[in-house]
Amino acid sequence: MAHELIAICDECKHTIADGEGSLWVDMAEVNQHAINVRAWEQLEAKPATDRLQTYSFSSLLSYPDPAPWRVHHTACDPAPNANAYAIEVHRCRSWADLVLWTSHPSGKA
Ligand SMILES: [Zn+2]
Repeated sequence: MAHELIAICDECKHTIADGEGSLWVDMAEVNQHAINVRAWEQLEAKPATDRLQTYSFSSLLSYPDPAPWRVHHTACDPAPNANAYAIEVHRCRSWADLVLWTSHPSGKA
């Protein structure tokens, strides 16, 4: 079966077959992003009008970057002991899967 998404290892640049690797995000980076967003909101928010919070276009350009997904073969993972939120590649083979999994770590405590 053809997959919509092909996992390519960040380290060796080869494709990752089912069972040979995972996508993962470092939870420390997810938590830091949440802190950065709260700081950004305090710095950049204009006074609310009609219960609507607004931001200038130029301030949106400085919105903090999200924690990146990383993709590695199990054998290539440079940080196997990281506090990671990991998904085996066979569980993320479509765009819909990727959206679903991306919504998970940001919703965790
Ligand atoms: Zn690799």
